[in-house]
Amino acid sequence: MKLKRTPTSELKAGKNVLVKGWVSQVRNLGGLVFFLLRDGYGDIQVTVKKKDAKKGMLDAVSKLARESCVTVQGTVKKSKQISKGIEIIPQSIDILCKAEPLPIEPSERINTSLDKRLDWRSLDLRDPKNLAIFKIEAKLIEGMEEYLRRQGFLQVFTPCIMGAASEGGADVFKVDYFGKPAFLRQDPQLHRQLALIGGLERIFDIGPSWRAEPHHTARHLCEHRGIAVELSFIDDERDVIMVEEKLILSAFNRVKKDCKEELKLLGKKVIVPKTPFPLLEFPKIYDILEKMGKKIEFGEEYDTESEKLLWEWVKKKHENDFYFVNRFPFKVKPFYVMRIDGDPQWARSTDLLYRGVEQSSGGQREHRYEKIIEQAKIKGMNLKSLEWFTKFFKYGAPPHGGFCLGLERLTWMMLDIGNIRETCLFPRAPERILP
Ligand code: ATP
Ligand code: MG
Repeated sequence: MKLKRTPTSELKAGKNVLVKGWVSQVRNLGGLVFFLLRDGYGDIQVTVKKKDAKKGMLDAVSKLARESCVTVQGTVKKSKQISKGIEIIPQSIDILCKAEPLPIEPSERINTSLDKRLDWRSLDLRDPKNLAIFKIEAKLIEGMEEYLRRQGFLQVFTPCIMGAASEGGADVFKVDYFGKPAFLRQDPQLHRQLALIGGLERIFDIGPSWRAEPHHTARHLCEHRGIAVELSFIDDERDVIMVEEKLILSAFNRVKKDCKEELKLLGKKVIVPKTPFPLLEFPKIYDILEKMGKKIEFGEEYDTESEKLLWEWVKKKHENDFYFVNRFPFKVKPFYVMRIDGDPQWARSTDLLYRGVEQSSGGQREHRYEKIIEQAKIKGMNLKSLEWFTKFFKYGAPPHGGFCLGLERLTWMMLDIGNIRETCLFPRAPERILP
């Protein structure tokens, strides 16, 4: 009977097994040939005793090139010399696909530039450390989905191609839509809002957004993924804040529980944050910043340096790496946010920050038609071109809010790795659209 494949993580001494994977190291020591077979689950040493080996196998072994794909059938034996404690003594070795000498050395992340690594991304991923990043990222999503589904949030899919730019501004990718201009979405938000007006009460959308920002920063991608959540009949933005906090907890707990090996490989520790996350609000934030030695004009936007300073302050005072910023100045936020009735300089707009870097923006949205129109006018927007969105607010829109959390941002900050591009399989940057 033909053996079924066993993942290297499930090998037990004494069993006859069939394993498949990549050859990651070959050593030829006189009478012995060793190689490490690596699959998606770990690795195992394969030891060939030349004097016991059949001719066919010796031929295969003599041609073994690093990173070739192979099938090995053999017996798992205990071995004191190997840290894992087991090795495979093969009966047969078949080369499934031979590899040429590699253009980059996957294990030398430090010596190969990130650019060159990304040019050869599939080979770069052969480094288990790089794969670990994506296993962790997937678990972050799993933890978030788990929480959202348990809380009755429904997964929905909203359009990526927009007939009108959602946030305005220059950083939109234009596409040709049957000869007419269209745009790639910058955020799935407006359609989430329309879905709630339709009667879906708790939804989430996981998908890409695009930003045509030409700058090269360590925190921006031209294409990123967001976990976008929206809920109806909220009392105010604090209902949204509570959902987001629990979402983060669920994600961090999932990684902590399921990614022990991956975290060890990367030399990282995950600290599940304390709740509630500190909630900082404008305009008090100006005072905190002034105490920290940074003067921001009352009513103005803060900057990335301020975000770091506030993190310092939060760490000292609350021992937390997370904090929310609420009640941003309306003038720095889009037309659809809800302002504070009676104090309209400030909006019910909330950002989540982690280690001083923005992770999400959201808050309560304006659901009253007249206010939306008033705010669009204040922002100098063309009311006609907004009508596709605003018209629905005339027909009973529930008070609602939500947020969009950047997946790569969160992974990047959690793992504290140099550049956000490390957390994206095939990153899109101003100078990169291949592979
Ligand atoms: P930033 O000020 O950091 O550029 P933003 O305020 O422009 O972010 P939002 O429109 O609030 O971004 O988008 C929601 C979230 O999506 C952000 O908080 C961030 O986590 C993520 N995000 C936005 N733009 C990018 C990008 N270019 N690359 C990676 N993630 C992004
Ligand atoms: Mg933002």
